[in-house]
Amino acid sequence: MISFWEKNSFLSYDYIIIGAGLMGMHIAYELHEKEPNAKIIILERGIFPTGASTKNAGFACFGSLSEIVSDIAMNGVDNSLSLIEKRYKGISLLKERLGIENIGYENNGGYELLYNEHLAVLEKREEINELLFPIYKNEVFSIKNEKINEFGFDATKVKSLVFSPYEGQINTGKMVQSYIQLILSKGIQILTGAKVAQLENNKVYIEHNILHEPMQLIANKQVFIASNSFASDLLQTNIAKPGRGQVLITKPIENLKFKGVFHIDEGYYYFRNFENRVLFGGGRNLDFDAEESGEFKNTELIINELKRILRETILPNQTHEIVMQWAGIMGFSENKLPVIKRINEHCIVAMSCNGMGVALSGIMAKEAVQLYNLKID
Ligand SMILES: Cc1cc2nc3c(=O)[nH]c(=O)nc-3n(C[C@H](O)[C@H](O)[C@H](O)COP(=O)(O)OP(=O)(O)OC[C@H]3O[C@@H](n4cnc5c(N)ncnc54)[C@H](O)[C@@H]3O)c2cc1C
Repeated sequence: MISFWEKNSFLSYDYIIIGAGLMGMHIAYELHEKEPNAKIIILERGIFPTGASTKNAGFACFGSLSEIVSDIAMNGVDNSLSLIEKRYKGISLLKERLGIENIGYENNGGYELLYNEHLAVLEKREEINELLFPIYKNEVFSIKNEKINEFGFDATKVKSLVFSPYEGQINTGKMVQSYIQLILSKGIQILTGAKVAQLENNKVYIEHNILHEPMQLIANKQVFIASNSFASDLLQTNIAKPGRGQVLITKPIENLKFKGVFHIDEGYYYFRNFENRVLFGGGRNLDFDAEESGEFKNTELIINELKRILRETILPNQTHEIVMQWAGIMGFSENKLPVIKRINEHCIVAMSCNGMGVALSGIMAKEAVQLYNLKID
């Protein structure tokens, strides 16, 4: 039963945003910048944000050489370059908005490990560098094969290392914590434990175990759905597919030989140092069907393969122990392009960063708010 006071103070907002991941927080921030007096609330089903934004690998990246080549083959040069530029600008935005210290940003560069079967991509290196020149104003990809032994990788397997100085790494937990603090400091509310069960025009219904029936909130201006692939449940359409990412992390390793972010096989595998630990994830391509799942669960197939590659290729001569493993859910579109879409006059959805939302979500949120500001025909 709702009181008069509750009805007047807690149930009505200008903007309601569903999902307190990076996308939801970026959208809230952008709306507040445009309308400082607007009443904005973010609804989050977890006790704290528990989507991809708190489970990712913390790469501040824009795509490895082989990934860019594959993206161009799929989406053409213009779309692919536009996406790379947005990722580049999105990382700068995060650094500026939250501060380098507050996101634990380090610039140790990025590398792609090429096995024999990947070497053909090197023929495209100069062409891709030329395409990227207008964005980076410099050569992006160079070859650093001398680092294969220095980093301690298995040189019988790793035949070439492609280096990019423009990739960095962040502390994912610290970044989300800092963003929450910033959002709260702007007077934007975040309600956790608030699972949105249903949407009906500008009415948003929250489920909670202490409620006998869903509670109704009203968005007087707009609802933004930023719940990533879980938006499909709310909208009851397959607007984007979930893609599970499985990750593990080691105990600190004495004399760890490398620092930076590393990609293998068009980004299907990725690893980095976090201090002197190794975080390693990926392997979705081992079973695409099974990994098209919204279930936060590790599987033996993928975890065993991650352990094998870690043991045989990445840390072949270094004793290591795995201390934690987890899974997060990404949102994928058919063509690997992000989805920013008006659903109806009350609601816009912004999702499907296709595994690169740390980089991309800041610019996508700007576009979602621009879409809101466009006249509705
Ligand atoms: C394992 C892994 C590694 C990754 N590594 C990187 C990387 O290194 N670099 C990079 O750029 N990107 C990476 N990504 C991708 C990146 O994390 C995502 O693209 C980005 O975080 C998406 O942000 P989001 O806000 O759209 O979604 P999310 O962070 O998933 O946020 C959605 C939020 O909505 C909430 N929610 C869902 N349903 C409801 C509901 N009904 N009601 C209320 N709340 C709801 C969820 O709890 C969640 O907090 C990785 C992702 C994973 C899973």
